[in-house]
Amino acid sequence: MRTDRSVVLSDVLAARAVIRGVADGTPLVPSPFLSCIARGEVLLKLESMQPMGAFKLRGALNAVWSLRADAPGVVCCSTGNHGRAVAWAARARGLRAVVCLSALVPEVKVAGIRALGAEVRIVGRSQDDAQKEATGLAAGEGLVEIPPFDDPAVIAGQGTIGLELLEARPDLRTLLVPLSGGGLAAGIAVAARAIDPAIRVIGLTMERGAAMHAALRAGRPVPVEEVASLADSLGGGIGRDNRHSFALCRDLLDGTVLVSEDDIYRGMQALYWEDRLVAEGACAVGAAALMSGRLTGLAGPIATIVTGRNVDMGVFTRVVTGQDVTLGEHVVRGRAWDTTSAS
Ligand SMILES: *Cc1c(COP(=O)(O)O)cnc(C)c1O
Repeated sequence: MRTDRSVVLSDVLAARAVIRGVADGTPLVPSPFLSCIARGEVLLKLESMQPMGAFKLRGALNAVWSLRADAPGVVCCSTGNHGRAVAWAARARGLRAVVCLSALVPEVKVAGIRALGAEVRIVGRSQDDAQKEATGLAAGEGLVEIPPFDDPAVIAGQGTIGLELLEARPDLRTLLVPLSGGGLAAGIAVAARAIDPAIRVIGLTMERGAAMHAALRAGRPVPVEEVASLADSLGGGIGRDNRHSFALCRDLLDGTVLVSEDDIYRGMQALYWEDRLVAEGACAVGAAALMSGRLTGLAGPIATIVTGRNVDMGVFTRVVTGQDVTLGEHVVRGRAWDTTSAS
């Protein structure tokens, strides 16, 4: 086992002690519909049941709890859920929180962050713009920056999902993990592969703006244009000077698979009509990849992470009722789900 990794199993075990009783123990439930599609058992890890609606609470709690007692406050940039998680964790510790967002972040996520008492700054049209603002505020106001994915404490926190999966089901063979900056996939892969080196961990992301996928191909972080997607939580780059999540994903993932907006749309419909779940587009990539036939012949049992529920309900109801959805220049054509198949 290499020892130069920036996050190892012991870090994830330590994170578990920090988040215990607050952000752990989400349900792992079977999906009969996806099991039928995959011709083998498929389980869903419901991080959508987290107190603030997404798995990001695990990493944010671990990072905020590691700060010194006299820390003046925290700042972060986010596609929405990390900001909400940092706001939640900062409030629990009585710290000031500033969250920097780009104009691509849906209003529902902005409102959720404000409701937790954090200050919100909306700057530019990309995660890079929000990132610059956060770094500037950290330097200017002495706030501690909590990165959304490229941070050992955050990665270790997300990795606790891997521990819970393999404790509940040591027989899991394949994990399908939504992938953006790679904190989630890196953390899960660190934990799962330390426990079972033969397990496969596959990162899933959308074709429109697949930053980690492009970086893994190129062998280094590359700029990727950021556009609107049904999977808005998967938007943004991985950072030109990525120090942790890129190397961990490169060393520990068994591959990445891309899905289209149409696939994500169908995946959201399936999670709703078949599994009765309200889930963000970012969570639907696992269902989307299985349903579109882009992932076949996987060893089962399979688990995929339903990463969050903080979806714009206007968009969500359009998707589940089969209407068109407009994403900037791109229109996802509506198609009704055949509810007669839902049982
Ligand atoms: C952040 C996020 C992801 C991706 O996590 P990364 O660590 O950036 O790869 C997936 N789904 C949801 C709902 C998220 O908020």
